[in-house]
Amino acid sequence: MFELKEFIAAQSLDQADELLHRDKKNVILGGLLWMRMGTRQFNTGIDLSGLGLHRITDLGDHIEIGAMTPLRQLEISRLLADNFGPVLRDAVCHIVGVQFRNLATVGGSVFSRFSFSDVITALLVLDTRVHLFRGGQIPLADFLETSPGRDILVKLTIPKQDVDTAYVCQRKSAADFPILAAALARTGSAWKIAVGARPSRATLAPKTAGLLSETPDKTQIDAAGNEILRELTFGGNGQGSREYREHLARVLVKRGIQKICS
Ligand SMILES: Cc1cc2nc3c(=O)[nH]c(=O)nc-3n(C[C@H](O)[C@H](O)[C@H](O)COP(=O)(O)OP(=O)(O)OC[C@H]3O[C@@H](n4cnc5c(N)ncnc54)[C@H](O)[C@@H]3O)c2cc1C
Repeated sequence: MFELKEFIAAQSLDQADELLHRDKKNVILGGLLWMRMGTRQFNTGIDLSGLGLHRITDLGDHIEIGAMTPLRQLEISRLLADNFGPVLRDAVCHIVGVQFRNLATVGGSVFSRFSFSDVITALLVLDTRVHLFRGGQIPLADFLETSPGRDILVKLTIPKQDVDTAYVCQRKSAADFPILAAALARTGSAWKIAVGARPSRATLAPKTAGLLSETPDKTQIDAAGNEILRELTFGGNGQGSREYREHLARVLVKRGIQKICS
């Protein structure tokens, strides 16, 4: 178990930022589900839970998701489902169990940039922007290119869009990490496809998506299934071999397209 010498419930983001930069051994706390698996020793744990960052808010042309929003809210939010379809719900519903998802936060999930992340894979196809206290707002895809620094993830924003979505993944058992995951979104005739747990970090596949028309026929769907193997790289680890992931990528991309079209 990790250790904290001191716990401070921040009264403002300015205070949280000041505490974070006061000492390299101070740390921002999310839901603590990941941190508690480690053994690191920290000085001050900075709690953001009193700062109103646990809400999903409709702001007219976009939706804002506070960093402390639990993953369970992504799963059951009517606002998210009405605007973005099933992609967020279907991405998080496999993560461990309901009690776990009531505690694990969106901020902890995105800031950690886990390569196996279902959450990041789904958010990528929705043009999500990440808002950092010091770093300002950047597209999630650009944020994923950076390494974890000392900043505070305050919120995510997603532009409202008339979008059809799907999330498909393969796991050894229901609550295990994904062996491979794919999120797909269609806005008019424009598609977005993200593949995660390759086992490297999730990324968009614009060339593959560009092969698809609004209602792709079998030839286009097969072509997308082949192109994903040329466009992205896949690797092996304890969860699955490179060859298995390549097979899954072809199947999941085709399955995701068919889900949206049906
Ligand atoms: C057993 C287990 C199984 C899991 N399985 C899956 C899975 O199948 N799919 C999946 O997508 N995810 C999975 N996860 C990851 C999980 O969904 C969360 O992403 C993870 O627990 C981190 O969220 P947290 O709120 O617990 O963050 P914490 O553990 O509290 O923090 C994680 C890191 O993020 C930093 N941090 C937290 N919040 C912020 C913030 N607002 N700003 C800056 N830094 C911050 C912390 O300092 C820490 O370094 C799993 C985790 C565990 C422990």
